[in-house]
Amino acid sequence: MEDKKFILIEEAIKKGKGKVSVRGWVYRERGSNEFKFIILRDASDIIQCVLERKKFERQWKEIDKIQIETSLKITGEIKKDKRAPTGYEINVDEIEIVGKSENFPIQKTLNEELLGDRRHLWLRSRKMNSILKIRSTVIGALHEYFRSKGFYEFQSPIIIPGGAEEGPTLFEVNYFGRKMYLTQTWQLYAEAAMYSLEKIYCVAPSFRAEKSKTNRHLAEYWHTEMEVAWADLDELMDYAEEMIKHVIKRVLEKNRKELEILKRDIKKLEPSLKKKFPRIRYDDVLKILKNKGINVPWGKDLRTIEEEKFMEDYDTPVFVTNYPKEIMAFYKPRDPKNPKTALCFDLLAPENNHEIIGGSVRETNIEELKKSLKKKGEKIEDYFYYLDIHSYGAIPHGGFGLGTERLIKWICGLDDIKDAIAFPRTISRWRP
Ligand code: ATP
Ligand code: MG
Repeated sequence: MEDKKFILIEEAIKKGKGKVSVRGWVYRERGSNEFKFIILRDASDIIQCVLERKKFERQWKEIDKIQIETSLKITGEIKKDKRAPTGYEINVDEIEIVGKSENFPIQKTLNEELLGDRRHLWLRSRKMNSILKIRSTVIGALHEYFRSKGFYEFQSPIIIPGGAEEGPTLFEVNYFGRKMYLTQTWQLYAEAAMYSLEKIYCVAPSFRAEKSKTNRHLAEYWHTEMEVAWADLDELMDYAEEMIKHVIKRVLEKNRKELEILKRDIKKLEPSLKKKFPRIRYDDVLKILKNKGINVPWGKDLRTIEEEKFMEDYDTPVFVTNYPKEIMAFYKPRDPKNPKTALCFDLLAPENNHEIIGGSVRETNIEELKKSLKKKGEKIEDYFYYLDIHSYGAIPHGGFGLGTERLIKWICGLDDIKDAIAFPRTISRWRP
């Protein structure tokens, strides 16, 4: 089989007629005495291939034994066939078996645990292939968005000396005999860099030792963060909304086929492109919940069930702003117009996807920062550099963090965040 120009299955289907050479893996197969039907897959698509015994008498013994995931090179005539899974079929003239495969361990549907154990093989499924393509579009679109807006990509350290506030969810690292931790956010370093670059972003891993099992928490996730000089809360929300719209637009442009394979109802995403995302204060969320018969005492964070009840009226993400200052991280400043609340927001996604972004303006008043740190039982000296960066030419600024897998989960319509990443890490899933 020398001198063949191999093309992707997708390209072969586009061509639609004539001789084609494709290569890939057996996705499904069935045989009779006279024929072997092979559904071949490559990165791009699947196609039905038919081998007639009378053409392959000499090779038949070998062909008859072909099993799922055997790798093949095939040349033949492609033509339309309504009965074939992707509408086309190749009548094979030549076949070369490249790599054998026997008893591929994923044949019929396995339960979630077993699929998790065989994740390294399950990545070949059409479901994972489609999700990973959409993930690639999402991450590409995030970079594209920030760069188009004049942001610099900035990296912060992954191993950090620690912040006690997040103590229970920090992963420890043995750092030359010293206790250090895996980062949960780039923020404190980003603020230092903001004073140099003004507009920065990153897409990088964050680590959280989440002990409770939910369908939206990973122990290792990709955190898309941004920090911007001179911004107020409304500007931050403008960026967040524009970024989400840009990502959805790109996915709808590039991944219609994948969304279809995932049986994702695209109509559920369209409102988020067209409509402005509502901006509602925490106080007003409590009022809305009260009208639905749910009483949340002022000062309490919203629980899963309360967020779901509140979000049932919306088909786009909603910004919830001005959460109570007392339950917020120390760096979120008071809103001067409503001092019991902080200048912060969460962006909640529809279809029970909950918080996908958390953001805020940052406190720069050193005395206020010290007060908040003390109240939270922190040691001021652990934060010397953070106080230092705001001691020289402080300016208003802010930023946000997006859970990239939470966005992918929503866009793909997944039940569990574990499927938004190739090799998930949770309290109970740590291999392969
Ligand atoms: P949650 O209340 O859902 O635990 P959080 O308030 O701890 O979220 P932030 O610290 O604001 O989240 O982090 C910013 C964003 O990172 C969140 O809006 C969310 O999208 C994402 N995120 C947070 N924790 C996780 C996690 N364990 N796995 C995946 N994404 C996460
Ligand atoms: Mg959390």
